[in-house]
Amino acid sequence: MASLPEIQCPTCRKHFPADIQAPTMPFCSMRCKMVDLNQWFTEEIGLPAHTCDDPEQEDEPQPPSSPKEWRFD
Ligand SMILES: [Zn+2]
Repeated sequence: MASLPEIQCPTCRKHFPADIQAPTMPFCSMRCKMVDLNQWFTEEIGLPAHTCDDPEQEDEPQPPSSPKEWRFD
């Protein structure tokens, strides 16, 4: 019987028998595959220098609500 050749998982460096049929190839597991994809994704986008928060959304002091009614007469 021919044994499967062992390859090294790019993510966790574990040696495992290469299964050409496996959807996780060339990773040892789906988890390692997702980790690698995630790294790609992170490198592609990079960390944002700042968030998209509206700068005018800062903590503005709210005028105290007065229980008194405004009178214009
Ligand atoms: Zn792995």
